[in-house]
Amino acid sequence: CASNKKQKVGQQITVCVRKRPLSYSECKAGDVDVVTATEGQCVIVHESKKTVDLTPYISQNKFYFDHVFGEESSNEEVYQRTAHPLVQHMFRGGNATCFAYGQTGAGKTHTMLGSSSATPGLYILAVQDIFAHLTTARLYPHLLVYVSFFEIYNGQLFDLLDHRKKLFARENGQKVVQISGLREIRVDSVSSLLEVVSKGTSQRTQGVSGVNPLSSRSHALLQIQLKEPNQQNAGRMWFVDLAGSERASDAKERDKRRRMEGAEINQSLLALKECIRSLDKKASHTPFRQSRLTQVLKDSFVGDSMTCMIANISPGHSATEHTLNTLRYADRVK
Ligand code: ADP
Ligand code: MG
Repeated sequence: CASNKKQKVGQQITVCVRKRPLSYSECKAGDVDVVTATEGQCVIVHESKKTVDLTPYISQNKFYFDHVFGEESSNEEVYQRTAHPLVQHMFRGGNATCFAYGQTGAGKTHTMLGSSSATPGLYILAVQDIFAHLTTARLYPHLLVYVSFFEIYNGQLFDLLDHRKKLFARENGQKVVQISGLREIRVDSVSSLLEVVSKGTSQRTQGVSGVNPLSSRSHALLQIQLKEPNQQNAGRMWFVDLAGSERASDAKERDKRRRMEGAEINQSLLALKECIRSLDKKASHTPFRQSRLTQVLKDSFVGDSMTCMIANISPGHSATEHTLNTLRYADRVK
């Protein structure tokens, strides 16, 4: 599966795919791996069990991206190709955004946060990198690092670092979107960031009973800012763990609450796609007002911004439909 996609010059948008391994429970349940995602730029979703059916895949099931990560790739490797260039952009004073997209269970949180301390995710690897820059390069001894962390659930903003306080985003006279009351915590080490993030993660939306986590229906946004001692912004980076993309189809549910949540997720993922596309085309109009998510991230879609989307996919035959939907969405974005 040779690459046929040319690398764009001065690329502002990078779209990658990451396949996770088949889990033990999926194996036990008889599911099989139908996705070929060898390191490179191409991913193929097979019609049935891969080992038997090698040839008859149809061309609609073959996709090309800037980079494809196979199940053996580590968070560290993903970091180097995706978020690391964004961190460098932030140090040049720019705005950078990294999204994890995909169905629930496909590996978004594993990518962003990590599954254990042995597999730190992109949030943590980025902050390690930032502090390494600040201390070893000694170019920016005055810069301070601030984090904020909030969730967008059903179009509403909740501060994960301030007891889920409800927040409001407004555009000011200069057309800058501001989130009033958002808590920003200064971190001075990787361990202080870890503490802040784990506190925030424990505040994510839980089901009414507490049994059924609703985190798959909310977007989690972690913001890392570099600031001058006078609080002037000197670079900003967002990490966005998006709501499960399969939730967009809940828009047709009979249960009213689910249906409304699904419609909101559908709307925000569609708006996100349009906003990222308009960034590449340097379009005069960016439809960021179409959802709370894109409104809040407005700065990410204008000017000197860099964006990376990691589309996470499950390998199993049982997930084929969602996997193809994710790949089609990511294909549209690039
Ligand atoms: P999501 O956030 O998209 O719902 P998770 O990140 O929670 O999905 O992943 C679902 C499960 O799969 C978790 O148990 C996670 O540890 C595991 N997992 C996901 N990606 C990988 C990976 N690349 N390697 C190993 N395990 C993974
Ligand atoms: Mg998750």
